[in-house]
Order: sequence, then C-alpha cells, then structure tokens
Amino acid sequence: MNLVLMGLPGAGKGTQAEQIVEKYNIPHISTGDMFRAAIKEGTELGLKAKSYMDEGALVPDEVTIGIVRERLSKVDCEKGFLLDGFPRTVAQAEALENILEELDKKIDYVINIDVDKDILMERLTGRRICKDCGATYHLIFNPPAEEGKCDRCGGELYQRADDNEETVQNRLDVNLKQTEPLLDFYQQKGYLKNIQGQQEIDKVFEDIDELLKGLNR
Ligand code: AMP
Repeated sequence: MNLVLMGLPGAGKGTQAEQIVEKYNIPHISTGDMFRAAIKEGTELGLKAKSYMDEGALVPDEVTIGIVRERLSKVDCEKGFLLDGFPRTVAQAEALENILEELDKKIDYVINIDVDKDILMERLTGRRICKDCGATYHLIFNPPAEEGKCDRCGGELYQRADDNEETVQNRLDVNLKQTEPLLDFYQQKGYLKNIQGQQEIDKVFEDIDELLKGLNR
C-alpha cells in the first residue's frame, strides 16, 4: 500500500504514522527525519539542508525530491510506504507522480487527519512547564492537580514563548496556506481520504485501519 499522510501540527500525525507502519509493516518515510539524521551524521545532504531547516524554510526541491526518489527506489518500498512530510507543495506532488510513474507505482490514498483549527490551537497552546524542575503538563491531556502548580515539586508553571497563541496561530496559518493547494490537488486526483481527527486516538486509528483493510496488497 502506497500512502501519503497529511495533517496540520497537533492533528496527531506522528502517533497515527507509528501505528500504521507497525501494523502494515511498511517503511515510514519522513523527509524531516531524513534531514535530521543527515545533519547528525554530518553528511553532504545534512550540510545542504541545515541552513534552511534552521530558518524554518523548506529545503529546495532539487535536494528534497532527489532524496525521496532515491528512498522510494529501495527494495523495502516494494510492498508499500508511508510518506510523511512530503509532498509539501504542489510542485513536489507533481514530482512524486513522476517518480512513482517511473517506478511503476501509484498512490493508493492520501490520508488527511482533519481537525478544526480552534481545537488545534487548544492542543498546541496547552503545554505548561515547571520553572523549577522542568516537568511538562498539558491543560487538556495532562493537567496538574492544582492550576499553575507543579505536582512534582510545587514549582510555578509557565508557557514557552513558541507555544503562545500568536506564534502558534502563525505556524498554523503558514501550514494551512501550504496544505490547501495540496489537498485540492489530491482531491482532484481522487486519492484524498479525510479522517476525522477529533476523536480518541484509538478511534482515529480504527478509521484509518478500516480504510486500509480495503487495500489487499
Ligand atoms: P518536519 O519534521 O516534517 O516538520 O520537517 C522539518 C524541516 O525539514 C522542515 O521545516 C523543512 O525545513 C525540512 N523539510 C521536511 N520535509 C520537507 C519537504 N517535503 N520539502 C522541503 N523541506 C522539508
């Protein structure tokens, strides 16, 4: 099964990706992870990618598309793959179509984990950290027993600057702008499957699983 996974920050993409690749035994191809690994190993690719990543900019297409082509040509992708973080632009999506055609493959589904922007704001701005011991909490998923106070050491809880409303709003807006044309592209191709992401994590996976069971390869 040849899959692309999409979802805005906070939609739960990472958690679902883990479960999909485990159950269906296909490689998880995350361009972000590949770049991070290359930086850690100090390879030429890492050197090329680092300055862009540090600025939060996209790594140029000639680099990114090249590594995806190479990765998808590997033998472990014969039974399928899960792409995560790629494509991020319509140009990359078009390049992916060409790569897959060369390899005589095609995308089965583009799975988009759909969550309302307001809920994403709540999820992404809810993190709180203890000033004294560094313990982390989340106002919705893992709240402290007493508001504003660390359960472990009684220290004061604070919000990191990059978790504040304005920064998060900005990050979501940038992501939304990037994803919308891609979703349209895949909708037109007939690959797009929206999965309701505002449910329990297990239920989200059940829905994905239900969809994938229909693919008997
Ligand atoms: P991610 O882990 O998917 O958030 O990616 C981290 C960073 O890697 C991004 O901010 C980009 O700088 C780079 N990156 C990952 N995937 C791509 C892609 N498809 N195109 C360009 N840059 C990418």
